[in-house]
Amino acid sequence: MASTKPLGNINVTFLGTASAAPSSTRNHSALALRLDGDVWLFDCGEATQHQLQKSSVKMGRIQKIFITHTHGDHMFGVVPLLCSLLNGAGGTTEGSDDPRINVDKTLPPVEIYGPLGLRAYVRGGLTYSHSLIGSPYVVHELRFPSDPTTDPTYLPLHPAELEGRNMIQTDGIWTNMFSDDRVSVSAAPILHSCPCVGYVVQEAPVPGKMDPKLYIPHIKRTGAPMSAMARLQQGESVSLPDGTVLHGPARRPGRKLAILGDTYDPSPIAGLAADADLLIHEATNAHLPGVDPNTKLEDTYETVEARAKSRGHSTPQMAGAFARLTGAKRLVLNHFSSRYPGDDSNETRDIMGAIGRHAESEYGQPVTCARDLMSFDVGLIE
Ligand SMILES: [Zn+2]
Ligand SMILES: [Zn+2]
Repeated sequence: MASTKPLGNINVTFLGTASAAPSSTRNHSALALRLDGDVWLFDCGEATQHQLQKSSVKMGRIQKIFITHTHGDHMFGVVPLLCSLLNGAGGTTEGSDDPRINVDKTLPPVEIYGPLGLRAYVRGGLTYSHSLIGSPYVVHELRFPSDPTTDPTYLPLHPAELEGRNMIQTDGIWTNMFSDDRVSVSAAPILHSCPCVGYVVQEAPVPGKMDPKLYIPHIKRTGAPMSAMARLQQGESVSLPDGTVLHGPARRPGRKLAILGDTYDPSPIAGLAADADLLIHEATNAHLPGVDPNTKLEDTYETVEARAKSRGHSTPQMAGAFARLTGAKRLVLNHFSSRYPGDDSNETRDIMGAIGRHAESEYGQPVTCARDLMSFDVGLIE
């Protein structure tokens, strides 16, 4: 629609890039996506709210939280984050009514998306910690075909909780589980040691490239107002006083981001993630002889890959191969073993450099290894 205000800035900030165990240099998984001023989180491991405090991401702007899977390192931070984000007015003495018991459920809720169990986990966490929050939230679950249709909890809705949707797949994909006129989100399964998904964020089509030489001479010749250029830029057709009709350039696909959870084989999302402007893929384990002092003598690339896969994870080479297969325009790796710190030491630079080169050997393009609090914009398409 020509009247849509297009999305401007898309910014990605890594809040946590560790796998199973956090370290002093890498926190558990979380990523903040800023769409102009709005903030969406992808995964929310323990202490994500601490990482937010260290970043320039504004916690109060968080509208949505997308969880890839219910392993603790990806969602233990949701309940405390909700308490900080939505605690609202409260704290009354005994015998007084706490206003948070009667939450205004007409307010827009914080929306949380993720696989089966997330709703029960959040409800149980808030309920049994006697946490009241001042604004509503809702959990929408991405149900796999083998999942039950019921909720695995007998607890009633938390006072701040709205009834969530259970979303089912169409042809193996949760298509447009969220969409507005700027952006849409879909998801697809990826293979891990528990039900796990990747998310694809797709910007709505953006105006096509304008070649002013095609338009300005006609506008000047016929004395039409130059404001016609703005309409042409939006892809509209404009009739000039002499009857000439100019057609604006067709709209182009917007930016596309594929944000994957833990995986040893993300092939079910390959079609949905095709040609992403940014692919974020885990690389938990790597074989780095001569670089990683913890390398065992008997290790080979094959044994390391087999071990990574058996635990549901990937090597840098596997991530690079998937990026090449799907035509990703940029690859960023995350979710590193605690063997690979995220500091500035020479040893770390050697290790992370080697991990990046292993991914590049399959991908054929430069690869970035994420660090906590690393932040960059996803550029507009040229
Ligand atoms: Zn993990
Ligand atoms: Zn996991």
